[in-house]
Amino acid sequence: MSTPTPRRNVLAIPAYVPGKPPAPREGLTTYKLSSNENPYPPLPGVVEAATAEVERLNRYPDMGAARLYDALAERLDVPTTHLAAATGSVALIYQLVQGFCEPGDEVVHAWRSFEAYPIAITASAAVSVPVPVDAEGRHDLDAMRDAITDRTRVVLVCTPNNPTGPALRQTELDAFLDQVPEHVLVVVDEAYVEFVRMDDPVDGVATYRDRPNVVVTRTFSKAYGLAGLRVGYAIAHEPIASALRAVSLPFGVSGVAQAAAVASLDAEPALLERVDALVAERDRVLAGVRAAGWDVPDAQGNFFWMAAGDRTPELAVAADDLGIVVRPFGREGARVSIGETEANDRVIELARSFPQL
Ligand SMILES: *Cc1c(COP(=O)(O)O)cnc(C)c1O
Repeated sequence: MSTPTPRRNVLAIPAYVPGKPPAPREGLTTYKLSSNENPYPPLPGVVEAATAEVERLNRYPDMGAARLYDALAERLDVPTTHLAAATGSVALIYQLVQGFCEPGDEVVHAWRSFEAYPIAITASAAVSVPVPVDAEGRHDLDAMRDAITDRTRVVLVCTPNNPTGPALRQTELDAFLDQVPEHVLVVVDEAYVEFVRMDDPVDGVATYRDRPNVVVTRTFSKAYGLAGLRVGYAIAHEPIASALRAVSLPFGVSGVAQAAAVASLDAEPALLERVDALVAERDRVLAGVRAAGWDVPDAQGNFFWMAAGDRTPELAVAADDLGIVVRPFGREGARVSIGETEANDRVIELARSFPQL
């Protein structure tokens, strides 16, 4: 008897392990610090805009996402034809691989980096070429350049890097891009761009302007606090942006998500305030964790990395005992999101009670 069989690459797709929700605890508020979510509710005006759109749920959304494209185009000073919106920037990663790789083509990316990369690559029957990050959790751009072969069609650059934390400098990104062959597409994943506070930060939008092989991806999930609505966007020159729109799911970004994203862009002052508060909390937590003896890589997103090695599962259990859930990665380390003040206090407590060896 024969049964329908998925393509071989589909069977090889690694599982996506979502951040666990906290288990309820008697007499203890528990906090989820495992998915880099924003602890703040949606920005002022966003719930109202989304609710008004709910009245129209019997209708398909605007497939052209015209209001969202107009708002983004104005804010970023780019033509609307250089934009592609999708159901989260993770969808754009899928679409980029699908749109630019034949089966067997190679995609170079740092590792450890965003766990969705090898999943998206394998789903398109392309080949993942992971390049180890250095001891500080930074992209090894020289090694990534050396990993480019005749089969390479796409390079994924994640800055700041999830889950290790550091971000690239513009000077090093430019030097890298100058060495990448022009036919290779370079994706600059800026999911956490709003949180970056460093000298010579990457400006993805400035970078793409005179580079026809660069595409920048951004999201409303992290700084804007709309992870539940699924909306992100790419910025690239017309041939790339239109390929992304061509392979997108029709009507993927809901009307509610479009309205919420537009309202979020209108709430920029409140956004900046919240991001500043999260950055201040990040710096406070890092200082506390380092004072407890932990060697923590630079953290430019709303999360940081605890290199617990073999003791990573025990670290996750110790966190659970304190009523916080972190995101362990095998026996490498755990990623910890910056959350509510009380949650962040417990992270510092965790670092003190569970020293790095
Ligand atoms: C969270 C994240 C994304 C995108 O998330 P979406 O919710 O799909 O927009 C993209 N890249 C990285 C590195 C992330 O951490």
